[in-house]
Amino acid sequence: MTKPVRVRFAPSPTGYPHVGNIRTALFNWLFARRYGGRFIVRIEDTDLARKVEGAEKGILDSLRWLSLDWDEGPDVGGDYGPYYQSQRLELYKSAAEKLVAQGDAYYCYCSPERLEAMRAEQVKRKQPPGYDRHCRELAPEERAQKEAEGIVPVVRFRVPLEGQTRFKDLIYGDVVFGHSTLDDFVLLKSDGYPTYHLANVVDDHAMKISHVIRAEEWISSTPRHLLLYQALGFEPPEFIHHPMILGPDRAKLSKRHGAVSILDYRDQGYLPQTMFNFLALIGWSLDDRTEIIPRQALVDNFSLERIGKTGAIFNREKLDWMNGVYIRSLTPDEFFDAVQPFLMSDIAAGEALIENEDYVREVLPLVQERAKTLLEVVELTRFFFVDGLDYDASQLIGKKMDAQSTVNALKAAQENLEKLVVLQESATSETLPAFDADSLEAVLRPLAAELELKTGQLFGVLRVAVTGQSAAPPLFATMAVLGRERSLKRIAAALSKL
Ligand code: GLU
Repeated sequence: MTKPVRVRFAPSPTGYPHVGNIRTALFNWLFARRYGGRFIVRIEDTDLARKVEGAEKGILDSLRWLSLDWDEGPDVGGDYGPYYQSQRLELYKSAAEKLVAQGDAYYCYCSPERLEAMRAEQVKRKQPPGYDRHCRELAPEERAQKEAEGIVPVVRFRVPLEGQTRFKDLIYGDVVFGHSTLDDFVLLKSDGYPTYHLANVVDDHAMKISHVIRAEEWISSTPRHLLLYQALGFEPPEFIHHPMILGPDRAKLSKRHGAVSILDYRDQGYLPQTMFNFLALIGWSLDDRTEIIPRQALVDNFSLERIGKTGAIFNREKLDWMNGVYIRSLTPDEFFDAVQPFLMSDIAAGEALIENEDYVREVLPLVQERAKTLLEVVELTRFFFVDGLDYDASQLIGKKMDAQSTVNALKAAQENLEKLVVLQESATSETLPAFDADSLEAVLRPLAAELELKTGQLFGVLRVAVTGQSAAPPLFATMAVLGRERSLKRIAAALSKL
């Protein structure tokens, strides 16, 4: 690499950050970190009509959530600021004026009505859309006339009528656009704001951007940008366009494929480290096999060359699986910290957290193995925190058992456990085991044989009695954490249900 690496993420605050936008940011960030470069965030807020309140915050929050820290940009500043295009209008204006003075751009006085009629006519004649260059060769007197009428013009680029613009894209290879396919696009609007094309080129140059890494949807803008670089006498950066994210049906990822806002994934309880790893592997791969690649390994191995031309599919099942892997890799303390906000948003769990954090800390390891999301932990642990369980008596009846044998089994278990409790209370803790998983198993396993039941049958009945559900964490550990009092109360409640 000859020039210092300076890459940018240049979002327009026109909507909430889509997983696709943030993946573009991630690729830029990884590239900057891999090569010791700078990652710059620039807010492209020149489209006043499409500006969405809160969108910028959503974008920056998403970057922060994934720890995609930026070296220059909002909040942190930098040598090439301001990093909001709305604060750089003078630069665009003078670039536009320079282009007009050189003859590479011209003033256009066409009214919106005229442009609308022109478009309608093009549609009718099945002609490609585009400006018909009505004002391209206005005589000075015609211009003076329009000015005298008080019409505020836009500035349009004078695209050469012949020839072509080509560039080498690192991913797509040689890309060629014939100039006849480009119209004389607007550079400066009549409100004095630049269009995306002008502002993007002026800023990428002013901010010394070395590589433009962006989604494939911008590839058709690149010839326009290159014409601008040339006309302004700027050296263009390298261009790297990456494929867009597709849904499993290979259509562009959209709302109908489920959540597309990155912050929705945060709110559903995906870990940032999962999302980081997952997004990096949409359309990029280390070796076509390795799926779990922690942050630092991604930084160490990221390469633009391994971005594929196809296959950027958003696979929700893979995301869930990966989140489970990352959840299991957390230490108990990390898991507790990550889950805490989700528990807090639930009444019973939140209360338990406030009243007895130690209890919650005992509960959590029991579900860490199984949880696919942090939000799911609230569901999986609910029975630990509520008073009464809500289930139907019929659920209690064990496999190949009837109400009577179920009652017998529950009663026998109750007696044995009560004995264990009584014994323990009358004895010293040194001589007798506590109400822990091992001693519960020692009491309950032989009981199944005594009752002539399979252990699965007895344990199944008990599981429903103490948890209210048939799928739950390991039974003895669960009962141990629930404690004697709660466990016995639940068995009693089960008996009265029957
Ligand atoms: N503002 C554009 C966007 O919203 C930037 C595209 C580019 O990277 O050039 O994505």
